Amino acid sequence: MSYNKPLPRIDTLNKPFWDGAKQNKFLLQHCPACGDTRFPPGPICPKCLSDGQTWIEAAGTGVLESWVDMHRAYWDGFKDDLPYRVCLVRLTEGPVVASNLVNSPDNLKMGMKVKVVFDPVTDEITLPKFTIAET
Ligand SMILES: [Zn+2]
Repeated sequence: MSYNKPLPRIDTLNKPFWDGAKQNKFLLQHCPACGDTRFPPGPICPKCLSDGQTWIEAAGTGVLESWVDMHRAYWDGFKDDLPYRVCLVRLTEGPVVASNLVNSPDNLKMGMKVKVVFDPVTDEITLPKFTIAET
């Protein structure tokens, strides 16, 4: 069965992130000059304007900042998943990312600990998603 949901467009800036995800690693762009760590990646550091950006492997952990349950499919590919859950996660390293929250209970609370899980949706793309971390 083919994957019929939107897929990320890979470019020279984000390719290291998606290459990492394919290896089940959550990478964040990092500035060796000032220590800033960010998502999404950019061509220069927004804090010190250095263009010498590198990548670090994030812990893959964070806390739940917000979430929403989608009851309407804006793309046909999501029809069979309804309702599905979209989340905002504040990573342990600081940046906030939007993703799917999978296998989560109904009694969610802001600030709950989450961890990344990797979903290889095509041969090329592995999507980092989040689930509630065991406490
Ligand atoms: Zn910097």
